[in-house]
Amino acid sequence: MSSSTPTTAPAESRTHTPAAPGRSDVVIVGAGIIGLAHAFEALSKGLSVTVVDRDRRPVGASVRNFGHCCISAQDGELLALAQRSRPGWLRAAEAAGIWAAEAGTLVVARSATEAAVLEELRAERGGDAVELRTAAQTAALLGRADGAAGDLVGGALLPADLRVNPREAAPGLARWVVEQPQGRILWGTAVTGVESGTVHTTRGQVHGDRILICVGHDLDYLFPDIAEDHGVQRCRLTMARAEAPAGFRTDSAVLTATSMLRYDAFTSRPSAAGLREEVLGHSAELLEIGANVMFTRLPDGAVLVGDSHHYDATTPPFIDERTYELLIGAVAEVLGVERLRILERWQGVYASSPRGPLLVRDLAPGVRAISVTSGIGMTLSFGLAAATFDGTLAPTA
Ligand SMILES: Cc1cc2nc3c(=O)[nH]c(=O)nc-3n(C[C@H](O)[C@H](O)[C@H](O)COP(=O)(O)OP(=O)(O)OC[C@H]3O[C@@H](n4cnc5c(N)ncnc54)[C@H](O)[C@@H]3O)c2cc1C
Repeated sequence: MSSSTPTTAPAESRTHTPAAPGRSDVVIVGAGIIGLAHAFEALSKGLSVTVVDRDRRPVGASVRNFGHCCISAQDGELLALAQRSRPGWLRAAEAAGIWAAEAGTLVVARSATEAAVLEELRAERGGDAVELRTAAQTAALLGRADGAAGDLVGGALLPADLRVNPREAAPGLARWVVEQPQGRILWGTAVTGVESGTVHTTRGQVHGDRILICVGHDLDYLFPDIAEDHGVQRCRLTMARAEAPAGFRTDSAVLTATSMLRYDAFTSRPSAAGLREEVLGHSAELLEIGANVMFTRLPDGAVLVGDSHHYDATTPPFIDERTYELLIGAVAEVLGVERLRILERWQGVYASSPRGPLLVRDLAPGVRAISVTSGIGMTLSFGLAAATFDGTLAPTA
C-alpha cells in the first residue's frame, strides 16, 4: 500500500477568484461541508449561488474527519435531521461523482454491558435499524487476522449510516458547484463583515438576497458576541491515517465502547450508566483524553483512526504523543493486531457548545449564521440544507 497522501485535484483550479460583480440569490460564507451542502441544495432549486472562502480549497473540519454520516447514533430531533441528510448526501454524491458507501456502522461489543446497550437499542429501534451480530460475525466483519473473536462478545450493524471519503467529498462538491452555470466560488477571499444584502470581503463587496454564514468554529472571529452567547468553543481532535491490517476491508465505520459514551442513541439506554463505570474501571486514561475510539477505511485501503477531544476557546497546537499511543493501541486491540503503522497525523477542530448541538441565528434580515456545535456536521449537513431551503430550520435559542 502506498504511504503517499491521497490527492484530489485542487478545487481552486476550476474556480473564479476575483470578486466578480453581480448579485446572487444566495451568498454562502464558508466552503466546508455545511456551506457546500447549502450551495448544492440552492443550486438544485435553480437559485444562483456565490460561495466565499478565505482558503484556496476546503481544509477545515470537513476534510479532517472520518467521513462518517453517523445517523443511527443520534436521537430525537437530531436523528430526524440526520435521516433527512441521507438522501441529500446520496443525491450530491451521484451528481458530483464522489464516493458514498451505504455501508452502515459496526458497533463492537467487548463486554456484557456493551452488548446490553446494543440489545436495548435494538429493542427500541427494531431489528431492521439495529442488526445484532455474534462475536464470530463481528470478528469476520473486522477481518481479524486469525478470524478469532478474541475478547469480542458481539456487535451490531447500523445499516442506515453512510460513509464518504472526507478528503474528496468537500473538494468534489466544490468542483460541482463551479461547474454549474449559476454557481461560483471565490477562493482566497476572507469575509470581514456582513449586513443585509452585502458581504464585505478582502477583495471587495459581494451581494446577495440571502446570506448564509457557515464558518464553523470560526464564527467567533466574525461575530464574537453571537458565538459567546451560544458558548461556542473549539474542540480539538487528534487523528491519524494508518496502514490497515490485511483482513480489514469493511467500509462500515467501526465504533467501540467509548463511542457509545458519546452518542445519544447509546447514552439514553438504561445500561449506559453502568457502561461509563465499566470503561472508567478498565480504561480511565481513554476517558481522560476524551477518546472516541473509532476507525473508518478509506477507498485506498488505509484506515482513519481517532480520536481525542480537548475543549477550549483557543486550542493548544501541541499534541502529547501519549494521546496517539492510547488511541492507536486501542484500535489495534479491536482489530486483533499488535500494532498499526501510522502514515500521517493531524489535528482537526470543530465548533462545540455545552448549550446545544446547533447554532442557527438570524443576524439581520436575510442574514443567517449556521454552525453545527457538536461533532456531527458531516452527518447533519444535507439535512440542515434541506431544512434551510424549505423554511423549517428554526433559529436556536
Ligand atoms: C477530527 C474530526 C472528526 C470528525 N468526525 C466526524 C464524523 O465522522 N462525522 C460527522 O458527522 N462529523 C464529524 N466531525 C465534525 C464535522 O467535520 C464538522 O461538524 C463539519 O465538518 C463542520 O463543517 P463546516 O462547514 O461548518 O466547517 P469547516 O469544514 O471548518 O468549514 C468552514 C469554512 O469556513 C471558512 N471560513 C471561516 N471563516 C471565514 C471567513 N471569515 N471568510 C471566509 N471563509 C471563512 C473556512 O476557511 C472553512 O473552509 C469531525 C470533525 C473533526 C475535526
